[in-house]
Amino acid sequence: MKIAVLSGKGGTGKTTVSASLAASIDGCQYVDCDVEEPNGAIFLKPDITQSISVNVPVPEVDASKCNGCGNCGKACQFHAIAVIKGKVLLFPEICHHCGACLIACPQGAIHEVDRTIGVIEISNSNTFLQGRLNIGEPISIPIIRELKKRLRNDVAVVLDCSPGASCTVVQSVDGCDYCILVTEPTPFGLHDLKIAVQLIKKMGIPFGVVVNKATADNGSIQEYCAENYIEVLMEIPFSQEIAQAYSNGILPVQNNEQWKQKFAELYQKVERGAVK
Ligand code: SF4
Ligand code: SF4
Repeated sequence: MKIAVLSGKGGTGKTTVSASLAASIDGCQYVDCDVEEPNGAIFLKPDITQSISVNVPVPEVDASKCNGCGNCGKACQFHAIAVIKGKVLLFPEICHHCGACLIACPQGAIHEVDRTIGVIEISNSNTFLQGRLNIGEPISIPIIRELKKRLRNDVAVVLDCSPGASCTVVQSVDGCDYCILVTEPTPFGLHDLKIAVQLIKKMGIPFGVVVNKATADNGSIQEYCAENYIEVLMEIPFSQEIAQAYSNGILPVQNNEQWKQKFAELYQKVERGAVK
């Protein structure tokens, strides 16, 4: 079973939930798809033994063949190539690797070269994978794709997705059996939860909500979930003990039997609700 953990916004405790859930399931594979800021490793402390570069093909122009016709610039929908006064300018960071400029070039002046945008790292037991996007790179989907090629089918898999509801999240969540949406009881939390709910409903994947930093006044989240027939799977209280452990790289399940039990129950609920 593949379980995606996501949140409409950053800082809601998505990694606490995904890493705690993974630590509560025997043999679980944890996949950190939050490639701009992967931090599951801080808590799960994997023994990383493999690091694989993720490369993308980008165009390179042979100036000796180019006649400055401008066809390549007209063909690129992403403004990653432009021809100014007969000279070709390339912006490889925003290239989407579609190959249209190669096809459009009448001189055969364009060829592709590999460009490294990040890495994927794998633990020795293949129970931990993470993607890491190089600083300044704007396109992370190729790294998510590489991670997803390596998902295991023989064990439960927990995917820690990027915050928000971008194409990176869609790529991570696609094909999962269940989604856990992590939120917090604030107006921003509710606003972003609604966006995440819309996305996951459109994708047709079963889901439930975990309220993190819960207080006595969770009314708006509870009301919204009740009105929309959404199951609240778990509430994690706003607790100094949990916050302190977290700041020391310790998950609630790693130092508290009660939380271990609660996350085991969360997994049972997810199993019951997942795509059959
Ligand atoms: S490969 Fe596609 S996106 Fe990249 S520069 Fe060429 S046309 Fe633009
Ligand atoms: S399409 Fe080819 S020949 Fe024309 S400007 Fe671009 S690289 Fe040069």
